[in-house]
Amino acid sequence: VSPQEGPVCEFLGPQKRIATESCGDIDPLDLDEYRRHDGFVALKQCLNDLSRGATGETTGEITGEAIIDEIEKSGLRGRGGAGFPSAIKWRTVRGVTAETKYVICNGDEGDPGAFMDRMILESFPYRVIEGMAIAAIAAGAHQGYFYIRAEYPLAVQRIRHAIAECEAAGLLGDSILGTDYSLHFSVKEGAGAFICGEETALIHSIEGGRGTPRLRPPFPAESGLWEKPTLINNVETLSLVPWILRHGGDAFAKFGTETSKGTKVFALAGKIQRGGLIEVPMGVTIRQIVDQIGGGVPNGRRFKAVQIGGPSGGCVPASLADTPVDYEALRDVGAIMGSGGMVVLDDSDCMVDIARYFLRFTQDQSCGKCTYCRVGTKRMLEILERICKGQAKKKDLVLLEELCHSVSSGSLCGLGKTAPNPVLSTLQYFRDEYEAHINGHCPAGKCKDLIAYH
Ligand code: SF4
Repeated sequence: VSPQEGPVCEFLGPQKRIATESCGDIDPLDLDEYRRHDGFVALKQCLNDLSRGATGETTGEITGEAIIDEIEKSGLRGRGGAGFPSAIKWRTVRGVTAETKYVICNGDEGDPGAFMDRMILESFPYRVIEGMAIAAIAAGAHQGYFYIRAEYPLAVQRIRHAIAECEAAGLLGDSILGTDYSLHFSVKEGAGAFICGEETALIHSIEGGRGTPRLRPPFPAESGLWEKPTLINNVETLSLVPWILRHGGDAFAKFGTETSKGTKVFALAGKIQRGGLIEVPMGVTIRQIVDQIGGGVPNGRRFKAVQIGGPSGGCVPASLADTPVDYEALRDVGAIMGSGGMVVLDDSDCMVDIARYFLRFTQDQSCGKCTYCRVGTKRMLEILERICKGQAKKKDLVLLEELCHSVSSGSLCGLGKTAPNPVLSTLQYFRDEYEAHINGHCPAGKCKDLIAYH
């Protein structure tokens, strides 16, 4: 499609579909149709190649080294937020000698405004299953769990249906595709706690316990589900795997930047003409996403900032919109890639109110295990509430910043460690708005309590 052919083509032009390959072309539940679109070619390739051995003769012994080499070449990093190199994780699980190992697909997406995993699970269930099967073979696991939040009933239903279809077709179960490799997948529904997206909390939840994180090490790769080596990957990460194996790691690494390879799926939302799910090569700029793909901010308003990475992320001001989508570049401007939530803000949005919104979310979702997160975020929220009501003093800003650093350094898991990010980034780029509130004025005219108080 030519990018010159109007707004729809502008929307499609800069995009590259890998996780969302064949979008709109395949019926999500039709296994034959998925296979006609190269579905399960990569899995078959892995089993054939890996069961052949170095001399070309079938040995029956499946080694996942070749798979992991390809993943390493691709430069794939975990799309759940942390951006950890997938090959290192896979190799660690593979390297542990154990009779039983597990793979888990983390589908406990919970960031406000994010719906990437939901869309991928609902639209491409066979692709995620294929990616997870390849990951299992590479790691040497025979049992896998899809952990999907119960608020995604269609995703749960479709993955269950797709697993049953795969079992009937010999793609899952005992002796998959005629080999002696057995692979069994099942679905576990989450119960709505945001913290269960954290790997160790998720494992506790599958084991039937309360979803609370634990100290690491040991890492799940060494001691995870029921204390067995466990490979956990996010939905989007697994959905990229079949394409990488089919085209080769080098082909994937051609997209992106020096350190961030391939594509990233974003849920583009907020004050934007064309919101929705997009998939872009790493390295495109925030401005390209907002202006070209999203069609800019509607109603003649001014583009003010983009909130990236949900409650763990930060606000990037419009003045830094030429920042590329890249793990390190986003971190350098005080945001994070996160799992893919991207909320566009305009000049009618109050940045203090935005920080308060995200902090209220994390405060509410804190599991309460450690004091810095449980109490620290509460104190921070109280200060933000006072600022939004026009009842704060200048010294409250100093205290707020101190608390941000204490909570970040003293919390046990990622939720607490990153909870201050929306506050820190808005303090960094929009401090004048905080000061205006202290002086009794909300520049965006949003904080009604403040207006009433003064
Ligand atoms: Fe729980 Fe927060 Fe501590 Fe994480 S940082 S373990 S969510 S209290």
